[in-house]
Amino acid sequence: MRVRRMSAAIGAAAALALALTACGADTEKTEAKSVAQKVKDSKKITVGIKFDQPALGLKKPDGTFEGFDADVARYIAKELGAPENGITFKEARSENRESFLGGGQVDLVIATYSITDARKKQVTYGGPYYVAHQDTMVRADENDIKKTEDLKGKKLCKAAGSNSFRRVTEGPPDGKLAIKGVELVDASSYSECVAKLGAGALDAVSTDDLILAGFASQQKGKFKVINSPFTDEKYGVGIKKGDTETCEAVNKAVTKMYQDGTAKTLLDKHFAGTGLKPTTTVPQFEGCA
Ligand code: GLU
Repeated sequence: MRVRRMSAAIGAAAALALALTACGADTEKTEAKSVAQKVKDSKKITVGIKFDQPALGLKKPDGTFEGFDADVARYIAKELGAPENGITFKEARSENRESFLGGGQVDLVIATYSITDARKKQVTYGGPYYVAHQDTMVRADENDIKKTEDLKGKKLCKAAGSNSFRRVTEGPPDGKLAIKGVELVDASSYSECVAKLGAGALDAVSTDDLILAGFASQQKGKFKVINSPFTDEKYGVGIKKGDTETCEAVNKAVTKMYQDGTAKTLLDKHFAGTGLKPTTTVPQFEGCA
């Protein structure tokens, strides 16, 4: 009698344990499959890149994409298991990068995307895959702006969702120089900033040296970069917050991209002839935690 009761109790406990395990496994399955796992299974990936930044992310009239970020995206996609024809590029603008990742419209963002304290609260970053430096571009005939401090009293572009204006007008952690008396002029993107600079609607565009080099060499003779770099812009691979599995896979791919010489080849391909000398050693990783 006692034995029977005990075995019944064990049976119930075992059934409960089984039910709990099954339940746990279920939630794991329906809850976020990592991007790395999804790409491995489907051989497809959606990556947010810029469409309007020459040498970085540019959509050509024939619908193809070129630039350093586009090529880095292709390399990482391949390492994760998606061949070139499995990649969908979506237009990431500075202001939609966090919501694109949070809402799952893209799997990764590779779009001149600096790792900042504020963004780290919303985004997990792989990399950095490159460290750019902020500099300032003016019209070729400009003589008043020779160093960043000369922006005081001048009209500076503020691209929506970008951090660069903050480096000039605010202090740390996400700002830097906190220069007072700068007049900010709104634009939706860096291509609009550059168009406004060319048209005389503002005096300077201050942002990453790679971005400025791309525009300056696209429109030769029109602009000059003052060559006064003043920040480290760690270009991260944006990943949905908490997806460390994908972050680790991305870091593996970035390490390989430097070790096998691809990073140098790509930097040479896109920036040779722009006057900019890119760094070709692997950057210090941020860590996925
Ligand atoms: N790297 C800077 C940033 O992420 C400027 C370029 C951009 O907005 O894409 O804010």
